[in-house]
Amino acid sequence: METTLSYFPAPLPDEAIISQVARYHIQRAHRSEQLTYDELFNAPPFSLTFWVPPFLDRLANKLSGDAEENLGHLLERSTLLPLFRVFGKGIQEEEAGNQKIGFVAPRRTVGESGTTHICPSCIVEDAEVHGSPYIHLAHQIPGVSACWKHETKTIVRCQYCKCPFEIRKGLILSPWQGCNCGRHINGSASPVEQASPIEVEFAKFSRDLLEGAVFIEPELLVKVYKSRILELGFRRGGNQIARAELFSAIQESYGQEQLRKMDSAYCNGRTVAMGARLVGYIFFMFRL
Ligand SMILES: [Zn+2]
Ligand SMILES: [Zn+2]
Repeated sequence: METTLSYFPAPLPDEAIISQVARYHIQRAHRSEQLTYDELFNAPPFSLTFWVPPFLDRLANKLSGDAEENLGHLLERSTLLPLFRVFGKGIQEEEAGNQKIGFVAPRRTVGESGTTHICPSCIVEDAEVHGSPYIHLAHQIPGVSACWKHETKTIVRCQYCKCPFEIRKGLILSPWQGCNCGRHINGSASPVEQASPIEVEFAKFSRDLLEGAVFIEPELLVKVYKSRILELGFRRGGNQIARAELFSAIQESYGQEQLRKMDSAYCNGRTVAMGARLVGYIFFMFRL
């Protein structure tokens, strides 16, 4: 029988799981991260910035209430898993009568980790509005490089010493405790850089996808991705997508072997039939 945690911070709006764990660590005033990971996950420190990090089921077991329901909430509110729903991959919902049981957790870690995006304006504003800064989930969506709210570029490293926020296999504490160089993230180090209109559009669109706020017409999805693909330089002539180059980039990124496993149409050489799934692959490829 698991012991129930006496405390775990409730998520702030759009807060990523790594941020909740960091706030837990700080509020418990634990000296070592090892202790925090052990309490929450029965595991040595690991990266919590995967799109869907591992061991969330262990945390779900330690929260008060129903473990399966807890896991569903964690996955839906605090990870990028809801994005998978848009592309109909990697997620299943079980129906029992009319009642949804919730998510079936992926069996392994999903996605990449490596960079953590932060909006300095959000850090300042969240501290005022919510009493604490935090790491936003919407800023971590692959390909997103701007804050949908402030329309400025997100940053991935300390503005002073250029040290990355992301810590390999560890907590990210700089939003609360400042960087190792002693400075805080506050947007005053250098003027906050305005994002381009397309970056802002992409950030808003991705955030809506994550929130499940919109039903995306496939045509719209294609339109937005087309602009983003053009912006990334896969351009031919005026506004045409350089399809061959883009497709080679996709093949290179996933590897032909992996693509064959993932996609029967690709396997049969019917690349045109990959259609909307191709858009999904592109989405996950441009994790910038
Ligand atoms: Zn912001
Ligand atoms: Zn620094």
